[in-house]
Amino acid sequence: MRRLLHALVMLMGLVSGGTASAGDIDVQISDTAKQAINGAGEIRVTLRNTSPLPVAIHVGTTPFQIIDGKLPNKIFKVIADDGTEARYIGTFVKFTDGDENYVILQPGEARSADVDLAKNYVLKGGGYTVRYTLISFNIHKVIQGVIQRDANPKYEKQTFSAKIWVNENLLGAKTLGEVFEPDSIQECDESKTAAINSALDAAKSMATDAMNYLFTNTRWDGTSGPDPAEGTFYPTARWNYWFGDTGPAYSPAPANMPTGHLPTGFITALYLAFSSTGNYPILKCDACVGRSPMTVATSETVNIVNQGNYSSSLIRLCPHFFDLPTSGTDSQAGTIIHEMTHFSQHYVSNDERAPPSYDFSGTADYQYGYANTHGLAVSDPDEAEHNADNYEYFYENTPPVQ
Ligand SMILES: [Zn+2]
Repeated sequence: MRRLLHALVMLMGLVSGGTASAGDIDVQISDTAKQAINGAGEIRVTLRNTSPLPVAIHVGTTPFQIIDGKLPNKIFKVIADDGTEARYIGTFVKFTDGDENYVILQPGEARSADVDLAKNYVLKGGGYTVRYTLISFNIHKVIQGVIQRDANPKYEKQTFSAKIWVNENLLGAKTLGEVFEPDSIQECDESKTAAINSALDAAKSMATDAMNYLFTNTRWDGTSGPDPAEGTFYPTARWNYWFGDTGPAYSPAPANMPTGHLPTGFITALYLAFSSTGNYPILKCDACVGRSPMTVATSETVNIVNQGNYSSSLIRLCPHFFDLPTSGTDSQAGTIIHEMTHFSQHYVSNDERAPPSYDFSGTADYQYGYANTHGLAVSDPDEAEHNADNYEYFYENTPPVQ
């Protein structure tokens, strides 16, 4: 009987290719007692494995690694009743896709976490819809203790949502901690400082390369786009590999232009950040206590007033960052680019190669890793252009694609 059961389990693994689906996890979002009584902006999120096999889910897409009240990623979209999206002020953790970053749920097992939304989103009083999306690439079956990664996983997503009411009297003043000096490397020894400076040089040449890519592939026909951005960008194979085949668009076009591509906005913003002085994020060497040893870096906004200026943006470089190569795939330079795309942009530009103003939200981490990130571009270009790793791999461009 035991052998038969074993054979059956193996067969199920073969038949399904080990692929789990977003439907293997059921999610409930409910009020905590504090939320139910006084609208404190707190929710309880419960994930339950509804499949007959153990399931592994990437911790970066769950609320199960909250440190100092902060989520590991922007895993919820919090939308006010007037349709505006609440700005995310939690952490962005750059996880790897390694087994140590997965949470395993046994068949029928449920796991819950309480999330203080007010510590992670800028909330005012009123009604909100909280949306949580699971993507099948982040969920795998577990057979005999081994996480089954499918070479060609099927892309599925499932969204769960709940309505909450937030009492503005309970929100209180937001303190985002210390504000750092701009353009600084903090709490790093001499060798780490040298490594960071090399990584910044490499990131700057990636930013310049990406801007040149954008302009090389723009036809300046003067027939489209607002002045001075009168050009049409024609994406190439390199673009399509990481952002999907989404066709030509105005260039350079931030998100608020009707037919723009969001990545052209980021490419312009990052180029401007690296080519002007005093607009780098703060880079701090950090032990990243409480995170997996494979964690590369985390990001957070330290000053909500000064959006779009990287002096408001703190990137903590964990010990594993210094194991990475300076440039190329999954590199230190690519990590800095990845983290910088998490920060919202809002500023006026005086650069003749850019539109006069920008206003768009930072990326999130929906998907990690080279293969899955490319898969996201193929399956869901809209999600890909809001996902930080898609930018990282586009910028790293290793092996190079034209
Ligand atoms: Zn990230």
